[in-house]
Amino acid sequence: MCEACVHVAENAQEELGLAVVGRGFQVAVGVPFNGELSKAIRVAARRCAEVCPTGALAFRTQRACDLCESCTLTANGQRTLPESDGGECNGSSLE
Ligand code: SF4
Repeated sequence: MCEACVHVAENAQEELGLAVVGRGFQVAVGVPFNGELSKAIRVAARRCAEVCPTGALAFRTQRACDLCESCTLTANGQRTLPESDGGECNGSSLE
């Protein structure tokens, strides 16, 4: 555990930030007081992901579609089906 993200958040003067939490084999980097990551590194999120050498902190570029089970939702909110399925989601795969 390099703690680079902890220092980046600290240097950015994040209100909540990141910290080393737990003891022994349970030690990990986390958000103090069981806070949410999105609230802990509001300013420093991008820099934390950039310095993380393992990819444990990384920006999500795609997520599952909320209309169907086949396509992905890109970071800019565009739904895309695989080319083999026509390329554009219309939410019909759950019908
Ligand atoms: S999450 Fe990444 S940057 Fe943070 S301590 Fe772990 S390896 Fe280092």
